[in-house]
Amino acid sequence: MRSTDESPVAAERVMVIAAHPDDAEIQCGGTVARLARAGAKVSYVLCTSGNRGSDDPAVSSQELALVREEEQRAAVRQLGVERVTFLGHDDGDLGFVQPLLRQKITRLLREERPDVVFTHDFLAGLSSYEVCYLHPDHRATGAAAFEASFFCAPGPLFYPEQLAEGLRPRRVAAMYLFMSDRPDSYVDISDSLETKIKAIACHVSQWGDHPDLTGFFTELAERLGRGRGLRFAEAFKVLRP
Ligand SMILES: [Zn+2]
Repeated sequence: MRSTDESPVAAERVMVIAAHPDDAEIQCGGTVARLARAGAKVSYVLCTSGNRGSDDPAVSSQELALVREEEQRAAVRQLGVERVTFLGHDDGDLGFVQPLLRQKITRLLREERPDVVFTHDFLAGLSSYEVCYLHPDHRATGAAAFEASFFCAPGPLFYPEQLAEGLRPRRVAAMYLFMSDRPDSYVDISDSLETKIKAIACHVSQWGDHPDLTGFFTELAERLGRGRGLRFAEAFKVLRP
């Protein structure tokens, strides 16, 4: 896969850990589609089912969660993702359950054994105070995924009960942080932008009313590729242990 990074995303097994349905499609859907097309096994972990993401007072959070889980399943079918795990925490409350989140993500890393993890940049927005970057669920998810990937899953003394059940420690080779305000790796999604937009469009409850979904996400991908020799791109901050 072409990328401005010296080590382009190459992995047999990939885990995408996101706070809400649609986060991952928007931030790394093109990269995921390319990886899946190249034969990688990709799985998703959704920390919430987006059960508070509506302005409609007539819809209950349980109803909304079911709708958004179905939308998420439809989206990953477009991208070629093999498995989605919903952790079922309440939208907006992930900061309160971060220790549990870290434990659950550690277990999934030890079970599914990904080489590469995609998740939210948990430090995004700190220097700029840009509110759009400072969503508490994004920060909680990114921080729990970071701790689990680089510290807990490889360390046998973290959650030893998981090892007693037969799971083995797992160290991932790299983390790709999305929605970062300090990206350093740009992935060419020229061949998968169309698929990415189809996947985003599956999130009807969030994007169904948008007047120009294709134009909006095409312009975004164009902006990220500009000056980098890429027609359409997604951007990441890459961390290696
Ligand atoms: Zn989100």
